Parts: sequence; structure tokens; C-alpha cells
Amino acid sequence: MVKVVKFGGSSLASAEQFKKVAAIIKAEPCRRYVVPSAPGKRTKNDTKVTDMLYSCYDAASKGEDITNHFGEIEARYNGIISELGLDFSLADEFEAIKNAFIHKAGRDFAASRGEYLNGLILAEYLGFDFIDAAEVIFFNDNGLFDSERTNAVLASELKKHEYAVIPGFYGSMPNDTIKTFSRGGSDITGSIVARAAECDLYENWTDVDGFLMADPRIVENPRVIGEITYRELRELSYMGATVLHEDAIFPVRFAGIPINIRNTNNPEAHGTLIKSSSDKYDTGNVITGVAGKKGFSVITVEKDMMNAEVGFGRRVLEVLESNDICFEHLPSGIDNMSVIINTHELEGRRERILNGICRAVNPESVDIEDGLALVAVVGRAMVKAKGTAARVFKAISGAGINIRMIDQGSSEISIIVGVEEADFEEALKAIYNEFVY
Ligand code: ASP
Repeated sequence: MVKVVKFGGSSLASAEQFKKVAAIIKAEPCRRYVVPSAPGKRTKNDTKVTDMLYSCYDAASKGEDITNHFGEIEARYNGIISELGLDFSLADEFEAIKNAFIHKAGRDFAASRGEYLNGLILAEYLGFDFIDAAEVIFFNDNGLFDSERTNAVLASELKKHEYAVIPGFYGSMPNDTIKTFSRGGSDITGSIVARAAECDLYENWTDVDGFLMADPRIVENPRVIGEITYRELRELSYMGATVLHEDAIFPVRFAGIPINIRNTNNPEAHGTLIKSSSDKYDTGNVITGVAGKKGFSVITVEKDMMNAEVGFGRRVLEVLESNDICFEHLPSGIDNMSVIINTHELEGRRERILNGICRAVNPESVDIEDGLALVAVVGRAMVKAKGTAARVFKAISGAGINIRMIDQGSSEISIIVGVEEADFEEALKAIYNEFVY
């Protein structure tokens, strides 16, 4: 059994957190490869080291004196080192990084040092080897992650180390400069290492007990999801439920490695297990989770006999395509077709789109309505449970809310309902309460 373990910024924000992390790692000898983030916030109003690095680098690029700024970053690391009682110094590293800032080594380089330095400390504290991500994680000339080259080099490097720390968030470009993933990207590194190590489980340690069935800002004390499939997770994350970086799913999904979200501050909790497929249909609640987002618009095109007009849908969509707009949903009737899109995509293009559609299909009417919120009810068990859709609609109408759109994909793992933005929170609560008790 081999496990790859990734620890987020809050799990490594202070010496106290480092101690919890080491206890977790040492509790199971199979936790062999460790991917750390940079130190995160210690308290609500604290600043993440990554953000300190970005702003310090921006100051250096403007030619400002960064002595104080950089000193604060050094102090964060030195505090951790001394409180852990390590006989270890990063002084040479600090000197080199500060010089690189002054010589404009790049914003990505700057941000990546957060993980790099934290990785050095963690490797020292654990007594593990250190593998610099720049040597094993690669991007191509277009700045896209080069999965195959990375996997080959990383897999053979890992074989040389029984225990190692590989910092998250960055890799290198063909010209040897440093590039980072997007924010929160250490999750991606963890997943890449998990694939290359061909491990049995990728544990992603954070500061919550797992994925919740609903947004805790809307539903009071929502339950933790025990087990979820990648597809369900995609549906929920797309709707705004976040714990894990979206791109972190791909490397492990194809390798068939499950991800376990765990809580560093509550290691007894089992967390959420994310798997490719689950035969555990008995989630106890029929639904796995409910999530949603505001900020959608509906373009409705009406024309008699639309259903008999060959190429109608294509011509409408071509107008969106030529305006560089992607659509989210496409619920259609016999004589009308609706296209749901993100409202911000329409900015400055409304007239052009309306005119384009008129020219393309000569409809009886076409209009755009804003203010739509979408709610996704997601659950693999819905396929087997009769009457789920009816229960969703009953819950919403029972709360006195008008449903503006319904879309159930043929896969039956989700039902999407459109409501007025003002009704969004109530709709979500009503659905949660209908299924969870
Ligand atoms: N430190 C980086 C960030 O704050 C990456 C990560 O934590 O995953 O976005």
C-alpha cells in the first residue's frame, strides 16, 4: 500500500500545524510521498505566504526597496523553523530568492517559492528526501502541462526515494523558467504525484471534514458526503462547490486512484472518498449533494414549426460560436428553444447576438432574460430511486417558488432547475430539507 498525501496551506500555516501534519504522516508508514502547499492563513485576517510573495515581487518589479517586505516573508519561515526546534537555516535560499526578485525572475517564480521553501522545511522536519518540482513537473512551450513527459520522469525519480517531499503548485518550462498552475494548484501536483507513484490512495488534507452536501452559508450544518463519484463531483464543483481544484481530478481519475479529502484538524473523521465509480448506491439520502449558482441568462427563440426546420439549432448556436460564447444548457420545446449562458459572457454583445439570431433563423421572437439561478441536484442513487424529480419539484413549489427551467441529463445523475435569483437560497434549502433528515 502506498499513499500520496497533500497538505493545504492552512495545514502548514504554523509550527503547531506542522506538528499535526508530521503526526499524521508518521502514523502510517505507507504515507510515503508528501506534497505541501505554502503556509496559509493562521487566523482569519492573516495573509497567505503566496499572496505576500506576489505583492513583494510586484513591489520589486516597480523598483521599490523590498527589504521590509521580504523580511516579513523570511520571518514566517524562520518562526516555523525555530518553533519546531530545527537546526536548519534557509538564509542562503532567502538571499538567492531576494536577488532573483530584484533581477525580475518572474511572477510565477516568485509565487512558487512559497511551496519550495515550505517543502524544504517539511523534508528536514520529517527526515524525508526533497525533490524539486522544477526537475520533475513539466509544461510545454504553450504553457500547458505536459502530462506524459512529467509522468515518465517523475515515476522514475520517485522509484529512487522511499520517502520524499515534492512541493506543490509549480513545475518548469522547456526554457527552464518556473511556471505555476492556477491558484490552489498544489492539489494538481498531488494528483500528478499520485499517478506517477501508482499509489493506492491520494489523501488530500485540508481544514474541513470533507465535501458537504450543501453550502454551509445557505444550509445550516450540512452533512458531510461520505462517498462520491468523480462525475458527481464534477457536477457539484461546476456549480460552485469547491474544496478541490477542478484540474486535480484528471490525473488520478484515469489512473483509477481514489481521492480522500481529510481534515488535518480532525484526523479521526473519515472525510470524503472520491472514486471513479461506486456501487454504494445507498447514500442514505438518494441525493449526494445540492449546489447552485446565480448569474445566468436565458435566450429564448420562438418559431412555429421550429422542430421541422433542419439545422435550426445549429444556426442559433453558430451565432453564439461566432461571438465566442459557450452555452451551459439547451432546454427546448417544440416551437421554442432556450439557451442558457453565463450573464457575464453577454457583456457588450447583446445586440449583436439578438441581430445575429434574427438573421440566422428568422424567428417570431427572440429575447434575453437575466437573473436566473441554477440549482443542481446531484446523486448517483437517483437512477434507482423513482419519483426523485417529483420530490425536487414538490419541495420547490412547496416553498412557493416558481420553476423557470428544468433540465435532466440522460445520465440521470443530476437534475438542474432554474429559479429566479431572489429564490435561490430558499430553493436550495427546500431541496436539502426534502431529502436529508
Ligand atoms: N499556494 C498556492 C495558492 O495559494 C497554491 C496552493 O496552495 O495550492 O494558491
